[in-house]
Amino acid sequence: MNIQERIAVKLFSSDLPTLQSIEERYPQRVLPADAMVTRVAPSPTGFMHLGGLYAALISERLAHQSGGVFYIRIEDTDKKREVAGAAGTIVRKLRNYDLVIDEGPLPSGDEVGAYGPYTQSKRADLYHAHIRELYVQGRAYPCFCTVEELDEMRKLQELQRARFGYYGQWAKCRDRSEEKVLELLQSNTPYVMRFKSMGDFNKKITVADLLKGRRELSENDQDIVIMKSDGLPTYHFAHLIDDHYMRTTHIVRGDEWFSSLPLHLQLFELFGWTPPRYGHYAAIQKMDGTSKRKLSKRYDAEANVEYYTEVGYPRVAVLEYLLNLADSEFEEWRAAHQDTSYTEYVLRFERLASSAGGALFDLVKLESISKDVIANMRAQDVYECAVEWAREQSTAFARVLEDQSDYAIQSLSVERALDGKGRKDIAKWSDVPKEISYFFEPFTLTQDQIQLLKGISQDVLHGSIELFIKTYEDTDSKERWFEKVKEIAKTYGYAESQKELKTHQEQYKGYVADIVKIFRVLLTGRAQSPDLHAIMKVMGNERVFRRLKTGLDLL
Ligand code: GLU
Repeated sequence: MNIQERIAVKLFSSDLPTLQSIEERYPQRVLPADAMVTRVAPSPTGFMHLGGLYAALISERLAHQSGGVFYIRIEDTDKKREVAGAAGTIVRKLRNYDLVIDEGPLPSGDEVGAYGPYTQSKRADLYHAHIRELYVQGRAYPCFCTVEELDEMRKLQELQRARFGYYGQWAKCRDRSEEKVLELLQSNTPYVMRFKSMGDFNKKITVADLLKGRRELSENDQDIVIMKSDGLPTYHFAHLIDDHYMRTTHIVRGDEWFSSLPLHLQLFELFGWTPPRYGHYAAIQKMDGTSKRKLSKRYDAEANVEYYTEVGYPRVAVLEYLLNLADSEFEEWRAAHQDTSYTEYVLRFERLASSAGGALFDLVKLESISKDVIANMRAQDVYECAVEWAREQSTAFARVLEDQSDYAIQSLSVERALDGKGRKDIAKWSDVPKEISYFFEPFTLTQDQIQLLKGISQDVLHGSIELFIKTYEDTDSKERWFEKVKEIAKTYGYAESQKELKTHQEQYKGYVADIVKIFRVLLTGRAQSPDLHAIMKVMGNERVFRRLKTGLDLL
């Protein structure tokens, strides 16, 4: 064995697969010509960020609108930053969002798909086989620099105003003699593997980013770490091997990787592979006072996808909101295609590009999209989602909804046609208790609520309620009901319409709406509510009369 082979024995296990056998194990996918293969590649370093869902949604749509494949890959090679359980949570969240995920890990820990394993820590052999290949070609080398030495180097670079990094004359281990390398390995000195770059920082390459367009970047001259001392590769190296063998065609990823693109392209070229197309988007922004900043894991609850589950935004509303952020034309399309699933909308890179500089997060917009989504749902579906939410968040309202399910569904049917298209007062499932709780017992009126009726005399209050109880039937049509209320109004000196009041102001104390308000406040505790006749019908005679009588005692 020559010395290079003796070093290789120390660096690599003897049973690594050959590159050819790996190529054979992951054959080209058989797909239509323009089909895209995309992925989302989260690192399990904490909760799932809204930006992760954003990238997943865009990638999933691009794949499926083109007849391609979308998969999840867990990038867990940074063991120092890994958070226990985070991978499982992210997989569950992504799958729960009803994105169609063709391949990847399942919440159970199993996985589906022929291009796995889909978790990087299980693919060490593949990475090692390629690092060995680079080593054999003289394009990778072990580096024994300690943290202290690297710190020292950085300080010196700062002092000399040199560019930071491990390159050129700074790359100390690059030209170590083979004898020395063998000696260090034999004495078990810890090492990392570095890529030996032939790039020239003063030369430019032009990249055609899918979202940023054409840009010039310097060639990479950094001998970056491709394998850490724990034997696991860095992101730069791992993603490239995986995206090649998983046959990814398009990568949509965060801006923070844009500056590493020359390195990634350099490595693809070195292996003789066609790189996928890359698109980089800036982090989602948020207004903070008058300036913009990144939506931050640390400061903003809304950065965590879990926030939307806890508050109870329908998942589809969150997805539609993200599409809206990504592509400003989506809103117009949505208005023109109200009954169509968002999956019918076709995303195009040209349009996505407009938001690539940093979409601006806006909770008010999300609320409005969510209200539209819920307004389009049937009462039964609203009920089911609200119960699921109330159960998951263990709110006491879950019991109320479950124990009186038919009544709850009827209460949600008020101002909601059978096929959806209804009231827009509910933006999230946590609004449901607030919006329908008055239908349920115990119902008590506070002094503040009773104050809503101030200005109406006791005679009118008592007389109207008594008259209403005498005449109201819960079979009354809305017209009949209103006729009766107008009669009551007239009896007590109130005009039967606002117009009438305006023309003969001096003759009246008010108009019919003031009388309706008496019943509204006593039945719902509010000055405003959905259609009162419909509410009464759902409540039924007995409850309506009981509440009005209790109200009488309080007035
Ligand atoms: N694991 C990387 C991250 O979380 C993924 C980047 C990519 O999509 O390639 O930032």
